[in-house]
Amino acid sequence: MRPFFRLSVGVALLGLSAFSHVCLAQDLWNGKRAAVSLTYDDSLNIHLDSVVPALNKHGFRGTFYVTIAPEPFAKRLNEWRAVAEQGHELGNHTLFHPCNGQGPGREWVSPDRDLSSWTVARMSAHIQAANTTLEALDGKTERTLAYPCGDTTAGGESYIEQIKPLFVGARGVVIGYPTPEQVNRYNIAAHMIHGQSGEQLTALVDEAIERGALVVFLFHGVGGEHNLNVSAEAHNRLLDYLSTHGDQLWVAPMVDIAQFLKAKE
Ligand SMILES: [Zn+2]
Repeated sequence: MRPFFRLSVGVALLGLSAFSHVCLAQDLWNGKRAAVSLTYDDSLNIHLDSVVPALNKHGFRGTFYVTIAPEPFAKRLNEWRAVAEQGHELGNHTLFHPCNGQGPGREWVSPDRDLSSWTVARMSAHIQAANTTLEALDGKTERTLAYPCGDTTAGGESYIEQIKPLFVGARGVVIGYPTPEQVNRYNIAAHMIHGQSGEQLTALVDEAIERGALVVFLFHGVGGEHNLNVSAEAHNRLLDYLSTHGDQLWVAPMVDIAQFLKAKE
């Protein structure tokens, strides 16, 4: 039995169940009511130019899921290194961002980056090489992965088991508000952000507080540079809201959240 439940049962036996409910809810996420992780995919220029300064201004650390080969990463290595030095996580988003090219809406996937024709061994090797590159950049041996396009198979076979030893956790694209006991650490739920207003973003935080849950924001463009985009105003509204609700929220990079969850297992 986990300590959480032992304590819960013990307090309930003392006839103080209502009291225990209040206390335990506060302790769920590193001493806070809910957890928030801000994640930014595909190593865009705008992340370096706008997002990192905005996070730093608020004192928040995010996770940047970088793809190694494209120019915004490859041409600005020193700036990405500085991002890591400022306490943000450089998460693994593979070397070339391969996705499953089969099915509707995936016509854009080029044949050489179509996961449906790759093998699990090939995908795992690419992910390992991306980890090596990132370790050379930031010196970190623990980080998280974001599955490109949320796809977890290569050649029709799941590659999740093969990459588990390489990461403390991995972010998926399935929407959810998990409590610590509900989190799938190697396919952590996330909320894809595209076009939401500031109020809609803060409503996701309210929902997490209500449920005592984790909410992971999955951003691409912030004020431009990607088809999936949110305005800089809405993003700033979210950061302001997180600042003013700091007593209830643990805002942390994915690697910190995953390490916290691993320690509870
Ligand atoms: Zn991506």
